[in-house]
Amino acid sequence: MGSERILIVEDEEDILELVRFNLAKEGFAVTGALSGEEALEIVKEGPWDLVLLDLMLPGIDGFAVARHLKNDAALAHVPIIMLTARTEESDMVAGLEIGAEDYITKPFSPRVLLARIRAVLRRGAMVGKETEEPVIQRDELLIDVRRHCVKVGEKPVELTYSEFELLSFLASRPGWAFSRSQIVDAIRGYNYAVTDRSVDVQIVGLRRKLGACGRYIQTVRGVGYRFRDQNGHN
Ligand code: CA
Repeated sequence: MGSERILIVEDEEDILELVRFNLAKEGFAVTGALSGEEALEIVKEGPWDLVLLDLMLPGIDGFAVARHLKNDAALAHVPIIMLTARTEESDMVAGLEIGAEDYITKPFSPRVLLARIRAVLRRGAMVGKETEEPVIQRDELLIDVRRHCVKVGEKPVELTYSEFELLSFLASRPGWAFSRSQIVDAIRGYNYAVTDRSVDVQIVGLRRKLGACGRYIQTVRGVGYRFRDQNGHN
């Protein structure tokens, strides 16, 4: 760990420089953007290993930047840590629902920031290793795990980061039922802000986006969810 590329989006220059200094000292390659507009330009110069994203930006705000990243097939897999001065829970939840991995409330210490960054990067590396099959195909549904893209027939399906993680987690273990908390653990690691309820919300979203293929995600009463196994038996 240490040569990862991190994009930091922060309009307060002193915070940007502080973070840049501390991350560079640890060997990270850091690029800064002072606005959402600049971020959307610079982000094309990927690949990125992580984005640190201030929510309160003039012009295009952090939520809009996060949404843009998560809706771009080439960028959707890049984990986002939100930086926020707000303490309202609704903002955190909104950010996590868009697909951010974690958030840090300002003011934060560089040590806490580094620990969070390392945890998110480590989780990403582990998710990659756990995945044995790079491509999962079930009838017209195709999940390309490495490229983070999903297609139904020829049509690409746009999923949020966590919807994708959820789908690939279940689909790589067909026939196995998982409880909501097992799913939370698997897709979000230690993230305490994710609840069983948000798994349900994501399942609803996934089924809707997958259309006819949504039927592969089955509700197992009293347990949780599973991806229908190859033979399709219940
Ligand atoms: Ca700001």
